[in-house]
Order: sequence, then structure tokens, then C-alpha cells
Amino acid sequence: MTTTKPRILTGDTPTSTGLHLGHFVGSIENRLALQDQYECYFLIANVHAFTTLADKPSDIRANTMGIVKDWLAVGLDPSRSTFVLQSEIPAIAELTFLLAMLIPFNKVMRNPTLKTEMTTKDMGETYPFGFPMYAVGQCADILAFRPELVPVGEDQEAHIEMCRDVALKFNQLYCGVNNRTPPSEHHKAGGVFPIPSAKIGRVGRLIGLDGVQKMSKSLGNAIFLYDSPKDVQKKLNRITTGRQSPTEPGDANNVLMQYVDAFIAGKDPARAAEIKRRYTTGDNLGDGHVKQELGEVINALIDPMRARRAELETPAGEERVLGVIRDGIRKANIIAEETLHLAKKAMGLDFGRRTVG
Ligand code: ATP
Ligand code: MG
Repeated sequence: MTTTKPRILTGDTPTSTGLHLGHFVGSIENRLALQDQYECYFLIANVHAFTTLADKPSDIRANTMGIVKDWLAVGLDPSRSTFVLQSEIPAIAELTFLLAMLIPFNKVMRNPTLKTEMTTKDMGETYPFGFPMYAVGQCADILAFRPELVPVGEDQEAHIEMCRDVALKFNQLYCGVNNRTPPSEHHKAGGVFPIPSAKIGRVGRLIGLDGVQKMSKSLGNAIFLYDSPKDVQKKLNRITTGRQSPTEPGDANNVLMQYVDAFIAGKDPARAAEIKRRYTTGDNLGDGHVKQELGEVINALIDPMRARRAELETPAGEERVLGVIRDGIRKANIIAEETLHLAKKAMGLDFGRRTVG
């Protein structure tokens, strides 16, 4: 089947059993909105999960199943889009090695996203060689599908920039694309890779419950889409803002107000403005009240997703997820193998062609 739609590639790492609100506003909303206009590839980065969880392979396996269940629960549709299991796409691993030759080592080590992750995830000096490698691997994840757009949260911008740089270099070095050719013209000018752009979500960086770091699977500061209504409220109730009373003017940018912007403003702008006015002027609106209102809105948003996820937590659900993963492996390998073939040909490595089925 051929299609003329432009492509999207994006994905999640199975470092936890499901998706959180940050994923939703940072990337999932865009995936849902663009699912029909684009040929979409959603990648589950299960190899990259080993960068921090190498000693917990059974967790990574369960997390992989969990993330795919959440994808189905939010409405990503495997009959329209392809779900890509990274560990079964050999072309990605091969491209990683080939692209690694075009990215200076020091540039990888200076990548601000990696640096932030090393600090916030407390990785110390003993992180594995594979950890910085994942940044190169992510360039291969993306480029293997030759997409034009990559819907991600802000934290991924540095990675997408690196991916663009390596694609430009590849096209110039091996495909004869002139170094004055603008990125948007590279593919037309004979480059194997279109130069992909990041598409940042409605909320590029949803703050975590700690009010400091971004909401993150690995940092224990997340509300998951499958959390029970009670757990959602409990987690919100534990947020601290340092505000002493409802008559003390509150900080317009604290975590609660950021959540009002993220979850109430879109649906009910007048209510969000009223909350913010009263909160910041000390007009008798307590943190407890705001947390309650946020709990209701967030629960209403995730209720249907939670219900669909629960339906998948059955033997039949597990089978369905495995079926979707297997189907995706087959479809994804067709495209990724084609890309690898084009890349190897450009590099003079086209001695013969294997088949992966
Ligand atoms: P980990 O802690 O293991 O890195 P994570 O919570 O950062 O997990 P990822 O799988 O790394 O999740 O990210 C998946 C996608 O969700 C990426 O596009 C990322 O930019 C986006 N994303 C993750 N957290 C947030 C957030 N707090 N706000 C907006 N987007 C986010
Ligand atoms: Mg992350």
C-alpha cells in the first residue's frame, strides 16, 4: 500500500507502566489530532528503557505492554497508525551505528537533555555507555521512518536538533546535497532523509507534582492516566505551594496555577481566569479548593481512558496488545528496511539485500 501522506514518528520509553498527564498534553494530544492527516509511526523505545533499567527486564516487558494499553486507551488507532516495537526493528540498530560516525562525541555529551536527565535521575558517574548512546539511537528511531514531523514535549527539542543536524550531514556527505540547500528542500534535492521538525505540544513542559521538575515517569512526580479517581485527588492534595491562607495572594506561576492553565483554561477560560484572579489577589480561594476543582476536571478528562485501559487488563486484552505489537513489527520493518537500504546505497554499502519479515 502506498500513500502520499507525510509521516510522523514519535514515541515513549517504557520506564513505567503507563502514560502520565505530561505525555498527554505534551505529545498525545498532537498525535490524536494528526492521526488522519499523517502516516503515523508510534515507537515504543523498549531498548532505550535498558539505559536505566537494565537489571529489571521483566519490568520493561510489563511496562511495554502497559504503554501500548495506554496508547489504545487514549485513542491511538493501530488500524490507522503503526505501533513500532524498537527491539524488533534491526534497521534502527544498524542506523544508530552508521549515524554515530557523523555526530561528534563531545556534542552528544553536551546535549542539555542528557545532562538534565543525568542530574534529575541521579545517575552519578557510573551510567552505562548506552545512556548517552540513546541520544544517537533516537536519531535513528526517527530517521528510520523518514518523517517530516515529530510531536514531542519541550525536553526533546535538543534531541530533535541533533537529529536534524545528522540528517543534514548525511544528505550532504552521501547524497550530494549542496550545503546551501535549505533543510526543507533536502529531500527534493536528493537527500535520503527529509529534515524533520519538532512539533511541541499545547503544554510543552508540564510541571510535576513536586512543583520543580517536569512531570516524569521516573521521578515519582506524575499523575498517571490509569490512576484511580481517589489517587488523582490524593496526589493533588499532597502538592505544597508554601501559601499560608486563602487570603494570602498566591503565585500566578505555581504548580497549581500551571495546572489550571493546562486543564481548566482550555475547557472553561472564564472559570480559569476567575480562579487565577481570586488566587493571586488573596480573594478567599484556598489551595484546597483549587486542588478539588483540578481533581474533578482531571478525573473527567481521564475517566474514559482509565475505563478503556481497565478493559485491556484481561487475558483477551493482553492478546489484543500482543497482536497489535506483532502487526506493527511487520509493517514498521517494511519502511525501516527500505530506509536502511537507501542509506546504505548512498554510502556505497549496497552489496546485497537481505529481507526481514
Ligand atoms: P522518563 O522519566 O523515563 O524519561 P518521561 O516521563 O520523560 O519518562 P518519555 O517516554 O521520556 O517520558 O517521553 C515521552 C514523550 O512525552 C516525549 O515526547 C516527551 O517530550 C513527552 N513528555 C514527557 N514528559 C512531559 C512533560 N512533563 N510535559 C510535556 N511533555 C512531556
Ligand atoms: Mg523522558
